[in-house]
Amino acid sequence: MAAAEAAEVAQRLARIRVVLINTTHPGNIGATARAMKVMGLSSLHLVTPKIYPHAEATARASGADDLLQRAQLHESLESALAGCGLVLGTSARLRTLPLPLLDARRAAGQALVESAQHEVALLFGRERYGLTNEEMQRCHFLVNIPSNPEYSSLNIAQAVQIMAYELRIAAQGFADIELAPPDWQPVDDVQMERLFEHLEQTLLDIRFLNPRQPKRLLARLRRLFNRARPDQNEINILRGILKATQDAARHSEET
Ligand code: SAH
Repeated sequence: MAAAEAAEVAQRLARIRVVLINTTHPGNIGATARAMKVMGLSSLHLVTPKIYPHAEATARASGADDLLQRAQLHESLESALAGCGLVLGTSARLRTLPLPLLDARRAAGQALVESAQHEVALLFGRERYGLTNEEMQRCHFLVNIPSNPEYSSLNIAQAVQIMAYELRIAAQGFADIELAPPDWQPVDDVQMERLFEHLEQTLLDIRFLNPRQPKRLLARLRRLFNRARPDQNEINILRGILKATQDAARHSEET
């Protein structure tokens, strides 16, 4: 690979972060760092790992302990996703409230196209039960690595390895191609969360949402807005509508 092409590949991959959520075994964190470094990924984010740092993590990272040292620790998923315009959640299972689905290869292509414009996050769940529904609801797409339907759950670091490999192949394929970024700029995860909080509060204010049974409705609305992927202007309009709705509801209660 020519030097310029190698630099281009590295630059594209640098904007894709791997986020491990609540990982149980420190060895898996080390193996993930190794899987990433071999393919040229470098941004590792750990959300409330069970045991970390740990000698087992360093041992399994082998020569990739620099990634571990630079890994960012987070108390919440929210903080790990700050600045990300595209969130992909990997899963061995398909959910009851399914999100738009991509296989590993298509997901890598999508991530690479969008990484020209904003940071991209790839989420990996717990060894025992993967991602929670709530975590899934932060994602724009669900990503599945095609596998044996009767035994579909890979070890987490091996799942990272396959995704990292697909990202590298996609980055190499795109290295000398000018990719057109999407012609709108979706807002980041923090902005989306503010919209969802405002929406929930408004739906409570106007008594559309039953506070004793809120989950299903909010999950569906999240899916709707995550599919639409609004930009800043659209978010401003939606927040304006919500505020006017709250004002009108307050006004009619006062009179
Ligand atoms: N029993 C769990 C599997 C967890 S495996 C479950 O049913 O969800 C740990 C993590 O590895 C998963 O959360 C996911 O991030 C990743 N993973 C494992 N197998 C995968 C597959 N076939 N496709 C995509 N991700 C997978």
